[in-house]
Parts: sequence; structure tokens; C-alpha cells
Amino acid sequence: MDGDELDTGRRGALAALLGSAVAGLTNRVSAQTTKPATKIEVPPQKIEKLSLSDEEWKKRLTPEQYQILRKEGTERAGSSPLNDEKRPGVFHCAGCDLALFTSDMKYDSGTGWPSFFTTLPGAFGTKTDFRLIYPRTEYHCARCGGHHGHVFNDGPKPTGQRWCNNGLALKFKPA
Ligand SMILES: [Zn+2]
Repeated sequence: MDGDELDTGRRGALAALLGSAVAGLTNRVSAQTTKPATKIEVPPQKIEKLSLSDEEWKKRLTPEQYQILRKEGTERAGSSPLNDEKRPGVFHCAGCDLALFTSDMKYDSGTGWPSFFTTLPGAFGTKTDFRLIYPRTEYHCARCGGHHGHVFNDGPKPTGQRWCNNGLALKFKPA
């Protein structure tokens, strides 16, 4: 074996050289696989239900937010400043602060309501609402049960979903 001809000193030097070469390679590989800096990451959230009395909700929310989140109201189209919000960041529930969407999930649907093609995992529960002639899928915050909007199947790729959200039900935190 070639290795047997090397004395211990040379063998140690060779091992160190190989070690640094491998380390250099590993660093390069991990640098290449790092995600772009604009990607917003939200760590998995532990969702503990928040249950407040009607009185407590009235204290915590503005009358407009209360109408939407607790009474399933809808804000006027085009009224939310969040329609034009394009900064990187995270959209939270205005009722309980649960993170719901990231800026990477937002798109301009042209409807006049902030729209998203997907949500953070587990952020919402859904139910069918028959208040209009056709059934719509209404969604609620998984933590506080607050009504946020409706989800439709006319969204963009890759999901085809349009999560049409009341801006007043959201709190935007820039990254
Ligand atoms: Zn909530």
C-alpha cells in the first residue's frame, strides 16, 4: 500500500490538506443551496385556541374589525391599504396575531381585496357559506376563529386558489 510508505508526519499533513479541501467543497455546496434572501420563512406555529367573550372582542378590536372578524362582515372593495402592500413581510391575524400569509404568497387579483394563492400551514379552517345564491368557502383563523374571507378556485398557478382576505382582519409586519 502506498500509504504505508509515508511517515506519520507526512501522513498527518496529507490528512489535514484533504480535510481542508473537503471543508472548502462543503462550504461551496451549502452556499449554492442557500435560498434567496427575499424568501420569508415562518417557523411552524403551535396553535393554541384563543376564546374570548363578545365583550372582550369589542374591547380588543375596532368596530370595523369586530364586524368582519366576529360577525363575518366584508369591507368595501378597494378600501384596504394592504391591497398595495408589496414589501416583504408577514400578514398576521388582527384578532390574535397568528401568522397567516407571507408576502411571497400575495398577488394582485384586481378584486380590491388583498389576495393570496396559498396560506401558512394550518392557519385556517374552512366552512361552506350559503349567504349568496351560490355556496362559497369561508375561512376562519385557526387560533381565534375570526372570519377572514372566502377562498375561490380562480387563483394563479401553482395552487389555482384565491384567498380573498379582508385587509382589516390582517396586521402586516414588514420583514
Ligand atoms: Zn386569529
